[in-house]
Amino acid sequence: MIDLSQGFSRRRFIAHTSCFGAFYAAAQLIPLPALAETIGVDSRVSQTPIVDKGFASVRKIGNGLYATISDPSKGNTTLCNGGFLAGKDGVLLIEGFTTAAGASFQMDALRSVSQVPVKAAVDTHYHFDHSMGNAFYGANGVPLWAHASVAKRIVDNYTPLQGTDQATALAPYAKRVKDAKSDAERQHAQSDLNAVTGLFQVANSTVLALPNHPLDPAKLPTTIDLGGLSAVLETLPGHSGTDVIVRVPEQNVVYTGDLLFSGWYPVCFDEQATVSGWRATLAKFAALDKDTLFVPGHGQICGQEGIATIREVFDDIAAQAEKMHKAGVPAQEASERYVVPDKFKNFPIFAWGFTIGPAITKLYAEWGAK
Ligand SMILES: [Zn+2]
Repeated sequence: MIDLSQGFSRRRFIAHTSCFGAFYAAAQLIPLPALAETIGVDSRVSQTPIVDKGFASVRKIGNGLYATISDPSKGNTTLCNGGFLAGKDGVLLIEGFTTAAGASFQMDALRSVSQVPVKAAVDTHYHFDHSMGNAFYGANGVPLWAHASVAKRIVDNYTPLQGTDQATALAPYAKRVKDAKSDAERQHAQSDLNAVTGLFQVANSTVLALPNHPLDPAKLPTTIDLGGLSAVLETLPGHSGTDVIVRVPEQNVVYTGDLLFSGWYPVCFDEQATVSGWRATLAKFAALDKDTLFVPGHGQICGQEGIATIREVFDDIAAQAEKMHKAGVPAQEASERYVVPDKFKNFPIFAWGFTIGPAITKLYAEWGAK
């Protein structure tokens, strides 16, 4: 049992080199695979990044196209991936990242290759690791675009964590660790507690900033002309109910946000996440050109093989869940009993109750089972 009173005292919190101690501890277990392991040689992708700070690197992946790829094992300044599209007349930046310093890092990378005015930045969805650095854009007069529900969902999900006592906020998660009936259940509950502890710390060290340019989903897809470079913004179901992708059809490049976890277990906890919707979205990605390059929300840049792999992960979760359902295992128990197969044993699991657990309970719900 963790004694929360021994948690992050304010002094330790300030003294810590990373404000996100709990995340840092967890993220050290999440190494980023080398680029060569995922896409091999693709003439569009520069083997040398324009900048590499450890926690993230930025490299050219097309004409005016850049990908920011985070390595959470080396720090949490950015945590998620992003990138930017630099046309002749305008630039579109992707993601607010976990910290304003993360958004600033990406802006500096942009300015090392282009002085074209920024048209906008876009949060691909509302989750903290994509939006908590938004204040950087506010402070720099950069219009911030996102799905119309993003502002409300940031407020609804993250303001309640601010000004709350940490022990009180985390009590339900600590109780699950204490009450666990098996080692597996205890480990799952502990991984959830670690994740929520990190989220609590991030929320309490962040000045929240909201998108000021809502994208009405009824008016998507829409095409943005950046001058010799056109991007299509599109909303698709699956991960958060607020997901927007940025597609560059002329170059077969897609910035997927978290609709793609490359070489990771997918994060399915969101109340608006749907497994069937997500699998339909992945089928759409699979139907794109065979040379499509995907910049995922987490993990390494990939081609269609990365889409095939995440579809296999969903297939495996669904197959194990279905077997348990047929054997009469109730949803809650099934969500703890999934076994990671050998071929996915190196896939990071952000936290059990944010990935595999809810994928199974959501599948059960889709089948009308309990
Ligand atoms: Zn997300």
